[in-house]
Formats: sequence, C-alpha cells, structure tokens
Amino acid sequence: MTEDAKKFLAEVTALKTAAEKAATAVSDGKALERWRIEFLGRKSPLGRLSKSLTSLAEGDRPAAGKALNELRADLKAEYESLQKRLGPKKAGTDEARLDYTLPGVQPPIGTLHPLTKTYYEITAFFASLGFNVAHGPEVEDEFHNFGALNFPPDHPSRDAQDTLYVNDEWLLRTHTSPAQIRVMLEQRPPLRVIVPGRCFRADAVDASHYPVFHQVEGLLVDENVSLGDLKGTLTAFAEYIFGPDTKMRFRPHFFPFTEPSAEVDISCVVCGGEGCRTCGGKGWLEIAGAGMVHPNVFRNVGYDPEQWAGYAFGMGVERIAMLKYGIDDIRLFYENDFAFLKQF
Ligand SMILES: [Zn+2]
Repeated sequence: MTEDAKKFLAEVTALKTAAEKAATAVSDGKALERWRIEFLGRKSPLGRLSKSLTSLAEGDRPAAGKALNELRADLKAEYESLQKRLGPKKAGTDEARLDYTLPGVQPPIGTLHPLTKTYYEITAFFASLGFNVAHGPEVEDEFHNFGALNFPPDHPSRDAQDTLYVNDEWLLRTHTSPAQIRVMLEQRPPLRVIVPGRCFRADAVDASHYPVFHQVEGLLVDENVSLGDLKGTLTAFAEYIFGPDTKMRFRPHFFPFTEPSAEVDISCVVCGGEGCRTCGGKGWLEIAGAGMVHPNVFRNVGYDPEQWAGYAFGMGVERIAMLKYGIDDIRLFYENDFAFLKQF
C-alpha cells in the first residue's frame, strides 16, 4: 500500500471520528442541517475524498473505495438516527413547523380597577363642567390639613387617635381639602378644580372603614355663587353617575370649612326610596359632604370674602363605587383578588 493510500484511509477514519463527535452536539433542526452540510454536503471532505480516489494507485483503489463507501453509509445512518432522535418537530426548520392557520393564543386582558373606573367617571363629569384636575401631596402639614381650613386647635380630628402623624409637624392628609388651600394660595379666582387623591385616617378595618381611602374634592370660587349652584351641580352629578331617576337632598350638617354645610343624600340605588336593608329603611344614602366656603378659609388664603363666594364638596370614591356596583365590603378593593376585580 502506498503512502498516499495510507493517508487516504487515515483521513477516512479521522472524518468518521469528527462526524460522530459533532453529532453529539446536534440539538435541533438547524444544527442538524449544519451537520449535514458539513459532513454530507457537496463541498464536504467526503466529496473531496471521492474525487481524490482516482489519483490513488490502481491496486489501492478497491480498499480505499470500500472504506469510503462505508464512511458514507455510516454518515447517512448517523444523519437518519439524529433525525429520529430529534423527532419530526425539532428536525424541521422553525418555518416548516409553524401552522399559520391555527388560532392564536389569547393573552389575558386586564380591566380597570373599579376605583379607577369610578375616578374616571367622576373626573369626566366635572371636566365637562370646566373643572380642572389638581393634585396635592399626601404628606401635609397641620396648616394645610387643618388650620387653614378653619379647624379649631382643639378639634378632635387633630388628635393622634384619628390622624396618622409622621412627626410633630407632618401628617398623612386626612382629606383632599388641603389641596384646595394650595390651589387658592397659588391662583386668583375665578377658579374651579377637582382634586382626586388618596387619604389616610387611623381607622380600624371593617366592612366600611379602611385606613387608606380615596376622595374627590371639588372647589369653585367666583362672584355671585349660591347654594343653588352647588345643589344643581351635585344633582346633575348624581344623575350622571346613578341614573336620571336619582333624587338628591341636602341635610344640614357642620363642617369647619363651609358655612352653611350639608350632607348630600341620594335616593337609595337599591329600593329607589321605598326603604330597604341597604339604606337602613330610610330610602336615602349619603354620598358626599358639601357647603359654601367659610369666610375664614378665604381670609386664610388672602381672598376677600366680600368679593368672592364659593362652594366645596367632597366625596369618597369607595363609597360611590360601592353604591354604583353593589359592593358591600370596602376591603374587596384592596385585596387584589382577580376573581373580584375582573368583573368590572
Ligand atoms: Zn333602599
């Protein structure tokens, strides 16, 4: 056997070893195709060896040819076994595997939180009447939260039992009304704003109380504003949120920052005013507090109470959402229970 023939056979053996080694790394259809091109393709070493067979001495050709045929058969067998191992799914290219006619997978679609939805509705109504949306900080000082709003120094809600204090000076706002003060200190009348936001009180948790809750505050300051304007605005609001048959009434009340002040009731959304369990047999449900801005509040922000008049109101977003959607426990809003939330 010539040196050329020995070299030829050594190359056949080396190629077989290389192909087997490379086969162990083939893990998907793309890798398998690369393997096929490298070891069985037209430009592969196998092709080159086939061509060089004719240059060997005639006596060496039968043995070399036999070795080459065996190698080719081995590589084909290896290719087929790889195809089988990867399975029909992995052996094909990604393109071949995709069936574009199958329906797609529907991703889960979220919904707005019922409080967010209620916020949007309240905001949309007052925006349609020309109210701007204002925001204030959630950590306030006593001046903005109490003093400027005409709370006397000994008012019970200033007590640490009712209010969450950060330190001696700062507290978590107990209502959105301090934002009224901030707006009035920055702007001159006429103005109309609503202030949606989060508020905090040291309340024990039960079906209707939570230490964190949401309010929408409204304030309008102009010349010649009357209680009738306030009542008309809130009546239109109640009809917008709860339906055109909703009735509304003012019940005299006291708030330090308005005079006169009223609690705002709507006819019961469940019984329509007949009396039921939801309204405690009264036929009315409280939805807001309201009144004419107290002259002292105007003085505290540098407005002349002889020139300007205004009304203010505040409502709990949770309360509105509970009545609108028939939710009987405030805790449901904060528990992130998808079964509850996806109903809205
Ligand atoms: Zn009722």
